[in-house]
Amino acid sequence: MSTTPALAADVPTALQFICNKCKALSNVQTFEQTRDGTVFCRCDHCGTKNKVVRTGQTPSQPGLLPVTGVIQ
Ligand SMILES: [Zn+2]
Repeated sequence: MSTTPALAADVPTALQFICNKCKALSNVQTFEQTRDGTVFCRCDHCGTKNKVVRTGQTPSQPGLLPVTGVIQ
């Protein structure tokens, strides 16, 4: 007899953020940094550079990053 644990579909499997421009949920591919030390992630959909708050998580850890603005 075996039991298969059910996975909840709405739990993110990786670090994500909501794009400040197109409002789409985007996966964090990598953290990039400007010359003045601002950390940002590029939107999967529109390429906008979203300023994010680094929480110490790596992109493979599930979670949602707060976005504080965009870089023009
Ligand atoms: Zn976007």
